[in-house]
Amino acid sequence: MKPMSAIWPVVGTLAIGAAVAGLMARTTPTNPPMNETIKDAATGLMCQTTPPEREDKVILTDAEWKEKLTDEQYRILRNHGTEAAFCGPNLEPKGEGHYECVGCKLPLFGATKKFESGTGWPSYTEPYDQKNLWYRQDRSYGMTRVEVLCARCDGHLGHVFPDGPPPSGLRYCINGTVLNFIPKAD
Ligand SMILES: [Zn+2]
Repeated sequence: MKPMSAIWPVVGTLAIGAAVAGLMARTTPTNPPMNETIKDAATGLMCQTTPPEREDKVILTDAEWKEKLTDEQYRILRNHGTEAAFCGPNLEPKGEGHYECVGCKLPLFGATKKFESGTGWPSYTEPYDQKNLWYRQDRSYGMTRVEVLCARCDGHLGHVFPDGPPPSGLRYCINGTVLNFIPKAD
């Protein structure tokens, strides 16, 4: 039999290890904590945990959104839905102009930044204005993705992936349902 003095350090180490593991299991968050900015390693985009502040913010009640939007727009923009590939509007090029948010009319993407990705969703290499979007890490479905949201109404638009063409190398994969095309004025 080993003396107790030889066994206790082993037992103690195991106990501490189990306690630390238990603590980590309890405290490791599934989503980032509030009010934090995290640089996404894959895209280099700064992801926030809370919406940006703007003077022109559009904040409506759930009932008001349902009144304002179609069922499909509401499902995607307000409820983080995704349209079926190749089934949404705004897939084909429409000429000069820009695409605005169906929820609040904020310009989101310029037509010149649109490209054919072959994915079945409207794809852009960069936003109309970086201030008009914000990003959030989306850890649903066992993946870490970058969610794109409208900065004025905080509506869900789609995701950004690091497999786009140069120079940005980014692919903004957006639900065409939540975009309205505005032709360039003559
Ligand atoms: Zn919006």
